Amino acid sequence: MMLDKCPVCQGNKESSSVTFTVDDGQSLIVIRNTPATVCSLCGEEWISDSVAESLESMVTEAKAKHRVLEVVDFSLEDVA
Ligand SMILES: [Zn+2]
Repeated sequence: MMLDKCPVCQGNKESSSVTFTVDDGQSLIVIRNTPATVCSLCGEEWISDSVAESLESMVTEAKAKHRVLEVVDFSLEDVA
């Protein structure tokens, strides 16, 4: 992944992992260990298109379970 400067504060972007949450009012879906680029200064987060696509399918899958809370570990999902 190409790392450059943060457009918000000009801080350094670093490869990291974040916890992604979706609350649709019925289910709270938590996706841990989501690969992301995070600004070391202001904490702004960016997610690549391929990761966003994987997140989307995980969220759809999790919603289909109709549970109040669904926790998914991105690093354990087979999304390749
Ligand atoms: Zn920043």
